[in-house]
Amino acid sequence: MDCPVIIADGWLGTDDVIVDLEGRGTHLTKQFVSRAIADADALLSVAHFKGHPAGGYGGSLKNIGVGGASKRGKMNLHGALAGDKPVINADLCPGRKCDWWQTCQDCCPEGAIEISEQGLKIDQEACVYCFSCANLCVNMAGINAIQRFDHLPALGRRIADSALATMMTKEEGKCFFMNYAIDITPSCDCYGWTDTPIVNGLGILASLDPVAVDKACIELMNQAPGLINSEAEDYNALSPGAKKLNIIKGKDVEAQVYGGVENGMGTTDYEIEEVPLDRSQAAIAKFYPEVRAKKLKLMYASNHPLSGLDTASFGKVTEGVEHPRHPKK
Ligand code: SF4
Ligand code: SF4
Repeated sequence: MDCPVIIADGWLGTDDVIVDLEGRGTHLTKQFVSRAIADADALLSVAHFKGHPAGGYGGSLKNIGVGGASKRGKMNLHGALAGDKPVINADLCPGRKCDWWQTCQDCCPEGAIEISEQGLKIDQEACVYCFSCANLCVNMAGINAIQRFDHLPALGRRIADSALATMMTKEEGKCFFMNYAIDITPSCDCYGWTDTPIVNGLGILASLDPVAVDKACIELMNQAPGLINSEAEDYNALSPGAKKLNIIKGKDVEAQVYGGVENGMGTTDYEIEEVPLDRSQAAIAKFYPEVRAKKLKLMYASNHPLSGLDTASFGKVTEGVEHPRHPKK
């Protein structure tokens, strides 16, 4: 896309602007938006549509709601600054008998955790609710002595409020959203593994309205038949019309959409207009008026990637292989 990679909230996640939601947020009054995103003239969001353990699903709203927030913005929308605390059940902690005790003690940025032979002590006053310890204890140690609970109805709406804050940094019509509704896996892409998609190949949906494009993806996914050997089969959600992620996750996953309607960011009243596949010269000229090689020619004139190389040696037949590209011929 010819775009430089810029970490939008700075290398420590502290570079942001404060956006006042002007009373529109259902859960947030203000949000911290990454500065490079806030400063940009326009926003093009490109998201993979799929399931998500905390947000229910991930699409355009989560892409700009969570992705557009700085470090403290992410804490704000996850509820930390709103007062949600890790839930501690110290009796479950075996102390230094836990394989993860040292990492557990070290993972706290505030030094609030002490693991002794006797067990776990947390200085609640020092805790800034980052949940590193809870993720470690639940996901790595598998013990649940420290846990966090995502309350989806609130988290989804916080994500929607945060998405609204990101959009409020742009003029009307300067945000555009694309959802890749392909390989719709039950969990998100940041996991260290993937899973058989529950639905596949619905297409790429695009809109100026992030609520509409997410809602359309949810409904298309639900209307489609589920794929066998996926969680859709495990949870008996294969049939067209089954609310797949709701059934798999055991909850209503659409809180982000409800929040986006409630805060006035978008609508669920949409129409899908199919864009025909057109491989004609005229279509290519319309969407790619500039042939890429024209730009490369200028760059190559001063700095050619093959300069100084013996190009005469290119394409020599590999010994013993008469026609490497078309062996059958
Ligand atoms: S990971 Fe959990 S069980 Fe292990 S030391 Fe930490 S709090 Fe205790
Ligand atoms: S939530 Fe974060 S700050 Fe609080 S005790 Fe756990 S690691 Fe430390």
